[in-house]
Amino acid sequence: MNKVLQLGSEYFASQFGGAPDGLWSAPGRVNLIGEHTDYNDGFAFPIAIDKRTTVAARAREDRLLRVTSSSFPGMVEVNLDDVDPDALTGWAAYPLGVAWAMSLAAAGGASGLSGMDLALTSDVPAGAGLSSSAAVECAAALALSDLWGLGLDRPDLARIGQLAENRVVGAPTGIMDQSASLLGEPDHGILLDCQSLKTESVALGFAGAGVGLLVIDTRTSHSHADGGYASRRRSCEDGARRLGVGSLRALGPDDLPRAAAQLDGQTYRRVRHVITENQRVLDTVAALRTSGAAAIGPFLNESHVSMREDFEISTAELDLAVSSAQELGAIGARMTGGGFGGAALALVRNGDAGTVAEGIARDFAQAGYTAPHIFPVTASEGARREL
Ligand code: ADP
Ligand code: MG
Repeated sequence: MNKVLQLGSEYFASQFGGAPDGLWSAPGRVNLIGEHTDYNDGFAFPIAIDKRTTVAARAREDRLLRVTSSSFPGMVEVNLDDVDPDALTGWAAYPLGVAWAMSLAAAGGASGLSGMDLALTSDVPAGAGLSSSAAVECAAALALSDLWGLGLDRPDLARIGQLAENRVVGAPTGIMDQSASLLGEPDHGILLDCQSLKTESVALGFAGAGVGLLVIDTRTSHSHADGGYASRRRSCEDGARRLGVGSLRALGPDDLPRAAAQLDGQTYRRVRHVITENQRVLDTVAALRTSGAAAIGPFLNESHVSMREDFEISTAELDLAVSSAQELGAIGARMTGGGFGGAALALVRNGDAGTVAEGIARDFAQAGYTAPHIFPVTASEGARREL
């Protein structure tokens, strides 16, 4: 048994005693490109990363759901008959929200389901823009679907995770994070069409090209549930309505002059980000296929400018991480995730990774910012049963 699985089993034993019925894991994700496009029915291109959340689970004879996490204090208990989506709070809202959302998909609802003990361990940093939340949701969803014998497919599991996050946690996020966590493959990104929900695995060819991704976690906090995220979402909906379309996905670069004429300056800039970002996702995938990984840098760089200037979701720390990486020779760099803090990513030649990381750390120290966590990530397999 590898170390992570051993830790998961040991943690389960320390909390509940004995061995779990099984162990499931799901990765965090990094979004290579396509930010704030998912809830606009657009395109995103995330990657499942080599950091995972593990759920060790065991069915119970009674109707109690018990959940515990090595990252957060306290065991939370609720009876399956009393799961109230409005009453769940804190970290336990993620796994228990999944249980609630999944019970809606079960024939006969919650009444036919058994109680469950769930123990979570993880090396996905929380709140860093790497979707630790989706890693929890997807690992829990796969575990519950298996142990409850529901046999749900991956698109179902993604929707259940999203429903838990939207309805129970109250974060109005799209389906990108769960799709990446469930569908990832080694050295592949997932091209996600958020309108049709079609997904396509696209070879990255990073290893062959001698390049890799560095994540720069600025360790500045963000919260999807409040303020900025919701207001950006409202602006996009407002822009679509005023332009007479169901979602911004219906618009392309040719529609920008009309949008400029019809919208106020701020709404126009929000809309322009989404329209151009959708195009950059498609351009990135096309460049990977025709020219290889080293050709996608400009799209990453342009994406950052768009988020800084038009969508206004970057921060001074994220801007420094990006400009610093670019000056140190990165092929491309951008903030990633919802914004307002969290992480940036840089595509670097393998031989440059050390210098780029050291240089960014130096620039942060000079600016008086909190020391960032800088680490490589590789595209990895999606959620799976481990044991
Ligand atoms: P992100 O998904 O970008 O990491 P979010 O704010 O969406 O940030 O989700 C972070 C939240 O997810 C944490 O505050 C916690 O409530 C929950 N979470 C993440 N990892 C774990 C974990 N290992 N155990 C329990 N809850 C977790
Ligand atoms: Mg999240």
